[in-house]
Amino acid sequence: MEDKKIKCIDCHKDFIFTAMEQQFYEEKGYELPKRCKDCRSKRKAEKRSGGFRR
Ligand SMILES: [Zn+2]
Repeated sequence: MEDKKIKCIDCHKDFIFTAMEQQFYEEKGYELPKRCKDCRSKRKAEKRSGGFRR
């Protein structure tokens, strides 16, 4: 497998989805990430602190 370049749908920057990560995602049956790590961790943090507010 090769490293893949994906464009983040949040910040529109290209980020590298490494071969190792691809393997991990495939094993877990996850879909390809649409966001870079920064935006993903940001969203996670927001979820945690925002509770169930919309
Ligand atoms: Zn991003």
